[in-house]
Amino acid sequence: MTTSEGLPGKLAWSEVDPDEAMHATAAAELAAEDGRAADRDEWPAALWAILRRIGAPRWTIPEEFGGTACPRPLLVQRYGRLAGGSLTAMFILSQHDAAIRRLLAAGGSPVAEQWLCAIARGEAIATVGISHLTTSRRLGTQAIRVVPAGSGRYRLDGTMPWVTGATKADVVITGGVLDDGRQILVVLATDRPGVTVCRPFPLAALQASCTSEIRLEGVEVEEADVLAGPSEQVLAHPGAVGTGGLETSVLAAGQARAALAALVELAPGRGELAEPLDALCDDWQSLWAQIMAQARGEAGAMDPSRIRGRANGLVTRATQAYLTARKGTGFLRTEPAQRWARQALFFLVWSCPAPVAQAAIRDLAGLCPSLD
Ligand SMILES: Cc1cc2nc3c(=O)[nH]c(=O)nc-3n(C[C@H](O)[C@H](O)[C@H](O)COP(=O)(O)OP(=O)(O)OC[C@H]3O[C@@H](n4cnc5c(N)ncnc54)[C@H](O)[C@@H]3O)c2cc1C
Repeated sequence: MTTSEGLPGKLAWSEVDPDEAMHATAAAELAAEDGRAADRDEWPAALWAILRRIGAPRWTIPEEFGGTACPRPLLVQRYGRLAGGSLTAMFILSQHDAAIRRLLAAGGSPVAEQWLCAIARGEAIATVGISHLTTSRRLGTQAIRVVPAGSGRYRLDGTMPWVTGATKADVVITGGVLDDGRQILVVLATDRPGVTVCRPFPLAALQASCTSEIRLEGVEVEEADVLAGPSEQVLAHPGAVGTGGLETSVLAAGQARAALAALVELAPGRGELAEPLDALCDDWQSLWAQIMAQARGEAGAMDPSRIRGRANGLVTRATQAYLTARKGTGFLRTEPAQRWARQALFFLVWSCPAPVAQAAIRDLAGLCPSLD
């Protein structure tokens, strides 16, 4: 059995997408543009324009705020398909959507709703700078210090260590820690006085994601800008996507599938590829089934952290298998093989829960047990 793209049935998508043809075309357009855009030190306007044309920045916004409220299983599938075209584009979108989820989790905050409407109208791009509250301790536990400034206001000083799309974003969801250890989560326009967006970091891959630090110097926020807290674990909101959330694994699965699809094209006349390709496609099919079971909320679905561990392993193996098969030619910067292999490394460090990272290192050392 083969898919409509002529790929083995094991690489088939599972959800019926009413806009299948449009999204398949968009994925192909992203793929065509990605080689030019991904490693440049500038905002990937052409990639983002493709996402805007198909309405992607509005998929996670409810209709009452002008969005299209895509059901999660279909959303996840679209993420996977488009990530196969451009991981850069979908990584930026994932951070934009993470910000939207945090705005929605604020439950009726008028400021959050204004931003949601502006984003849905295409007037604003959002992102998150929250890793200092989750997976990053690069700048210490109080990377952003919060001090009450009276009448429900707060003053923020410090640095968000990682913000994707920072140089383009109009609004960032971030948080900080009060001296008593409690945290707050706030919505912050990037043109607020005291906000400085630094130059993007030079990265090993995904340079066009425009990831940088954002510094805050005496930035004042109103009570209305506070989305959650003060509380102990301000990000622990049901429904909000945390580290190692399903969406991170979906991007890895999409990147892995692109490498496998490229391997399929090489396979005719390369008998040595047949068996490993079949095994990798089996792995992808099983991973995808687990991702979709989790997206549909099925009872007994694999835990997102375990899915992330599997996705990290597969994306690394699939992209390296393709690079190996392409030999020296695949190592040329003009070829996607090397780019995909570099991009796969990103999943080892991005939003990766500590148990997943620890299990990966143990696996590399040949030690058991891993998460899988
Ligand atoms: C390209 C990119 C884009 C990102 N985009 C975003 C974004 O848009 N929004 C967002 O919120 N986050 C983002 N992140 C952050 C990401 O989710 C993780 O938080 C980040 O990768 C964690 O790395 P760190 O170096 O900050 O980790 P840290 O835990 O701070 O580690 C820093 C250093 O400390 C050392 N170290 C770690 N643990 C220990 C230990 N137990 N003992 C001794 N030393 C230790 C490590 O060797 C490491 O080099 C991004 C990250 C990357 C790489």
